[in-house]
Amino acid sequence: RTKAASGNGFSFFVSNMDARAREERRLDATLREALESNRFELLYQRQVDIKTGAIVGCEALLRMREADGTLVAPSEFLARAERNGMIMPINEWVIREACRQGARWREMGLPEFSVGVNLSPVQFQRQSVPLLVARILSETGLPAHLLDLELTESIVLHDRKQVALQLQQLRDLGVKISIDDFGTGCSSLSYVKHFPVDRLKIDQSFVHDLLENPSDAAIVRATINLGHSLGFEVIAEGVETEEVLRHLELEHCDKAQGYYFGKPQSAEKLQLAIQAQMPTKLVSLG
Ligand code: C2E
Ligand code: MG
Ligand code: MG
Ligand code: MG
Repeated sequence: RTKAASGNGFSFFVSNMDARAREERRLDATLREALESNRFELLYQRQVDIKTGAIVGCEALLRMREADGTLVAPSEFLARAERNGMIMPINEWVIREACRQGARWREMGLPEFSVGVNLSPVQFQRQSVPLLVARILSETGLPAHLLDLELTESIVLHDRKQVALQLQQLRDLGVKISIDDFGTGCSSLSYVKHFPVDRLKIDQSFVHDLLENPSDAAIVRATINLGHSLGFEVIAEGVETEEVLRHLELEHCDKAQGYYFGKPQSAEKLQLAIQAQMPTKLVSLG
């Protein structure tokens, strides 16, 4: 190795860091601009009652529309938004937009179904989530029991007492609480012991290969039994095939969500799917 080569290696390292910092600043600007010009969008993925096959809920999933029209997935920008604090206004927009949409659906006379919203643990550190949610519910008129807040286990890494208090206040409002990606964190059992929740969402990584992988099958069975013993409802994420659905039905899982039923779609498309399952079309398409 010559001196020149190692010198190049070092400047490569430095310019790599520069490149990363530049990339982050660019993303910060893109996020700010998307917020200002209203270029965040929500897609909705249906959730189905396994026994009846009816759509009983949906989950709002965030997308960012770039200036050139491309739709950007949350994995591309959420971690950065959590680091630079923009997750606060972004996720406030998500809660408000999802509640507005839920209220609109209700006004149209559709059969009741819940709207799920993903929250970031950062929100619980920096603001009173119950105050925010109470304000948005009264602003939009969505009944509290139709709002389902999804939290991941990573929330237990933060001040436990403070989080538990906020979750209790949310439940006092009548809002439902789901644990998202259940089983992937390192404190699943501790979570269900300490926090007031309504639902467990079995992570899709356990659901995918359920039929081929006996460990996954055992974990799914145990999670369903655990959830039911504690009085929670259990929903499986990432259901992609009829066979997996049948297996979950035999295990008495309550609900399912996944590409088998439908991908995340626009509010209008979900609405059409729900209207299609109504016995009589009493609903105006307005
Ligand atoms: P999540 O809450 O666990 O959402 C489920 C993810 O799995 C979604 O990805 C969904 O499109 C995808 N998915 C659903 N069914 C299937 C399936 O059958 N097969 C496969 N392979 N994937 C499926 P998406 O929309 O990219 O969201 C990724 C994550 O980003 C979400 O995971 C959630 O943690 C986060 N996220 C999404 N929207 C928001 C938001 O508004 N706020 C916050 N804080 N996080 C959000
Ligand atoms: Mg979720
Ligand atoms: Mg999940
Ligand atoms: Mg996830």
